[in-house]
Amino acid sequence: MNAFAYRDGILHVENLSLVAAAERVGTPFYCYAAGELERRYRALAHAIAPARASIAFAVKANSNLAVIGVFAGLGSGADVVSEGELRRCLAAGVPAQRILFSGVGKTAGEIGHAIACGIGQINIESETEIDLVAQEARRAGRVMPVALRVNPDVSAGGHEKISTGRKTDKFGIAAEQAPAVYGRMAATEGLEAVGIAMHIGSQIHDVAAYGAAFTRMAEIAEDLRARGLPVPRIDLGGGLGVAYGEDETEMPLEGYGRLLAELKARTGAELTIEPGRWLVADAGVLVSRVITVKQAGNRRFVVVDAAMNDLIRPTLYDARHPVWPVVEAAEEDCHPGTVAGPVCESGDILAVDAPLPDLAPGDLIAIGKAGAYGAVMASSYNSRLLVPEAMVWDDRLEIVRRRPSFEEAMALDSLPDWQAQAGAA
Ligand SMILES: *Cc1c(COP(=O)(O)O)cnc(C)c1O
Repeated sequence: MNAFAYRDGILHVENLSLVAAAERVGTPFYCYAAGELERRYRALAHAIAPARASIAFAVKANSNLAVIGVFAGLGSGADVVSEGELRRCLAAGVPAQRILFSGVGKTAGEIGHAIACGIGQINIESETEIDLVAQEARRAGRVMPVALRVNPDVSAGGHEKISTGRKTDKFGIAAEQAPAVYGRMAATEGLEAVGIAMHIGSQIHDVAAYGAAFTRMAEIAEDLRARGLPVPRIDLGGGLGVAYGEDETEMPLEGYGRLLAELKARTGAELTIEPGRWLVADAGVLVSRVITVKQAGNRRFVVVDAAMNDLIRPTLYDARHPVWPVVEAAEEDCHPGTVAGPVCESGDILAVDAPLPDLAPGDLIAIGKAGAYGAVMASSYNSRLLVPEAMVWDDRLEIVRRRPSFEEAMALDSLPDWQAQAGAA
């Protein structure tokens, strides 16, 4: 079953029409299908069951409490990269022990907070972080389980800006340095070295990239063990690719699961994966209303009320998202339309030459596969209100992040004394 499908000529999310959803929430808004989140989690959990691997949802892909809550309810752990994400996971019901903390630049404050919350693992990404985590752990009177993020030097990921596992990327420790650094980590008071971690990039479609990286991880683990260092856990990161365009394919789950099972058989380690995008991308759309349609040269611009500040991926990564008219149209009635937002930037384009029917002001469109790295990357640029989010279960809709009022949006600003006085005078 597809969570977003036409019924009686109207695009539905599960059993609710997007016309009804748009009336309730007002446009633009993100809409998530709870059932699809569940189906995807279960499919992935099934594929990795032979490896007895566990899932830590990479919250940065979508950190709405309700989304985290769906996965928490299914038994997922979480991978966080900031104190804000950690707080969200705890609020959404992820047990602290099932939370791991990654990230290339964690502050002492964030580390201290994470240790105080009793999270399960911190992934160390630099030599200085060894000392920082140890210092915070000793201060808290705890021994903190830590893994070392190593860089398997495998190039993967769909775009220059989302590849992270090459030698020249800023993440992790080079494999050659792993023995020395891991040894130091294991010998540091306040730390318990529990394993190694990798994350080679995002939007990976080629299972062979994982094959190469997993082999490197097995070799590194074996080398460390041969030196008498315990490596009970291996964290394989996220990166599983989804199909945004018709020329792309999803990461094949069976192949991925098989590689994990092989790694399990070879190392016996407890395996964890950190998928983000794959779990949420297809379960969300950005619903928007047409403001105007204009012709510029031979290009048809469909100007809508969603913009780059609501969904930055097309502008930032040249990402392509499908665009679906909410009222179904026959293929022969569609012709190229470039979907643009109202923000004052030429780059404010949500889709280039999407096949769309004739559209008029007030018509609704849905930008598909927007559940990952959509709402979380939204801003209020141009003083637009932060985009709201809704979740649908069957035919029920809940607004899971409401649109702020203009007063709320302005309330964090204040005038300096001297201006306020000048204004009063
Ligand atoms: C971003 C990130 C992930 C998730 O990546 P996806 O491509 O969304 O699956 C997992 N682990 C780490 C360390 C990350 O930085």
